[in-house]
Amino acid sequence: MYTKDQLPSEAQIRKYLRRILFGKNVFCPECRSRRISVQSGRYRCKDCRIRFSLLSHSWLSNIKIPLQKWWMVLWCWVCQVPVKQTMALTGLSKVSVTKWFDTFRGHLPEETHILERVVQLDEAYFKNMTLIMAKQKGTRNLAYDVLIGTSV
Ligand SMILES: [Zn+2]
Repeated sequence: MYTKDQLPSEAQIRKYLRRILFGKNVFCPECRSRRISVQSGRYRCKDCRIRFSLLSHSWLSNIKIPLQKWWMVLWCWVCQVPVKQTMALTGLSKVSVTKWFDTFRGHLPEETHILERVVQLDEAYFKNMTLIMAKQKGTRNLAYDVLIGTSV
């Protein structure tokens, strides 16, 4: 079972999200320019001058709960923890938990890729989870799964 001190820190979660949303270098979500200035966690595009934050142009732009709590709800959802237990674990209301579960479901990728032939496998370990990623050689087809435990 996940305990509070096993949760990634707010900073770590932000780092994961930045990596997922932007890759190695932050770019402008409007014009995709990489000429970005950073000031106290906010970004500004030097080309089209818009200001943005890590999540402002993602489906998490309206997030109102702390990221650690959000991580916990996501973790519960991935592990298929029932709503009631998720409420107890996160301290969130039934409405909130249900809303997040619906949101996660709504943002699942539309198609699942079935990979063929030669694939490259890679895995990343989090405290007690493993993220497995596979890429079909010579294509951009990716598949991934999150498993509980670190001995997969
Ligand atoms: Zn821009």
